[in-house]
Formats: sequence, C-alpha cells, structure tokens
Amino acid sequence: MRYGLKEILDIGEQGGFAVPAFNVYNLETVLGVMQAAEETGAPVIFQMYSRLFDSEIARFVSPIIMEAMDSMKTPAAFHLDHGAGIPEVLRAFRYGATGVMIDASKETLDKNIAVTREVVKMASEMGVTVEGELGEVGKASEGVSTDYTKVEDAARFVEETGACALAVAVGTAHGHYKQAPVLALQRIAELHQGQKAHLVLHGGSGVPDDQIQAAVKAGIRKINFGTDVCCSLLDGIRAVDPSVLALDLFMKEPTNRVKEFAVSKIKLLGADK
Ligand SMILES: [Zn+2]
Repeated sequence: MRYGLKEILDIGEQGGFAVPAFNVYNLETVLGVMQAAEETGAPVIFQMYSRLFDSEIARFVSPIIMEAMDSMKTPAAFHLDHGAGIPEVLRAFRYGATGVMIDASKETLDKNIAVTREVVKMASEMGVTVEGELGEVGKASEGVSTDYTKVEDAARFVEETGACALAVAVGTAHGHYKQAPVLALQRIAELHQGQKAHLVLHGGSGVPDDQIQAAVKAGIRKINFGTDVCCSLLDGIRAVDPSVLALDLFMKEPTNRVKEFAVSKIKLLGADK
C-alpha cells in the first residue's frame, strides 16, 4: 500500500514506535525489505540516496519500488534521502516518491528555512510531504558532533517551513562508527515535545540496541539504516557457493540476508504488530 511520508510517520506517532527507513539500491535490496515488511506486518520506508537520483539508477529502481509498494498489504513509502537540491527533488516527484528530504543543513538557519520552505511549497502541489534537516549529521569517520539541534531553532524551522519530518543532530553520524555513539536522549525528548514534526534519526547503523530503543521511547519516529543494508547484502554474497552461476539463484541468500536484517530492525523499533 502506498503511503505518504507524513501518513506513514503518523502511524508511528500513534503507536509510539519508529518506522524504519532502509536505503535500497537494486532489486534484491527492495525485495529483502518488502519480504521483511510482509513477514512482520510493519510499515516501512524505501529510500534512495540523492546521488542515485543524479544517475540512471533511480529511474530504473523506482518502478521496482512502486511495484513492491502496490503488491504489499502493509503501508510503505518511497523517499528521497538527503535531497541535494531542486533537480533531485523534481526527479523524485517524477519517479513516484511519496516523500522527499531536502538537506540544506550546511546553510545558515535562515537559508535552510528558505530552501526547505520552497521545497515544501512545490511538494504540496504534488501531494508529497517533506523531511528537512536541522543541525548537521556528519560522517562517523570524522567523529560525532555534540553540537545538538536546539529546541527553539527546531520549533521555528518547523513552523516556518511546514516540513512534516525533521532530521536532528542528537549524537549520531553516517557510516561506520569507530566507537559506539552516545545519544542525547534528553534532547530528543525535549525536541519531541517542543515542535510538531516527526523526529528522524540518521546514522542508525551501529547504534547499540538499547540506545535505539531509548531514542524511540523519547520520541524518534523514523530511523534510517543505510550502511548495514549494504553490509547484509555483501555478507550474503560472500557466503554463497561460488560455483552457483545462475544469478537468480546466486542472489537468493543475499536477498534473504537483507530480509533478516530488516526484520531485526523492525522488531527493535517496535514497528511489528
Ligand atoms: Zn542521513
């Protein structure tokens, strides 16, 4: 079932859980996530990185995602992750995305608000809802910033942009962590109470389970898993008997690894019914 970004995150808010967002790249990753959602009855978000919208990949993988969403009995959304600018957002509309992220978090607060507001305006014409980012979620390899998103900035950002979801800096980063991160749980709770948008946690791969659960309890409603989707597929590829040549048979185990990974995160977030 196709759901918009806001609608699917509303389900999480009502149920007090976070909806997992998995970064997909190809048929196998889409199938693995779809099978996990079907097996658990959970709502899920398929998302693709902005750079894939700059290549041919999004054009060819988007129809696979649409087909998956339409064949699923559970709610599913299709999201542009870290939209770099208007060209990527426009392509996401064309390819059927039901949510887009615009990431102007490197800009000043005023510029970030102006850019995000413009995208919300365009997206509303397309019936698409928007995730913004406030406070920079950097790369894990560069260390995790303790410069957390401020509640008053978040309230102003959400009020002035109309974004339905907000990625915040609360102690996570993208990629592989050198050591386990420590999340700012108190700040998450204050941000949840202090503004209207659904809170998004980026850099979910590698965060210890107890911290993920505490973050959900504090009010996080969308958690992104990118790095570990790749790792699970690649681990599956390395585990296959190399004498298997037929690609559909070869890719069965890697697809299954993605499914198992997605099932474990769905359960961790409390998204299974
Ligand atoms: Zn991110």
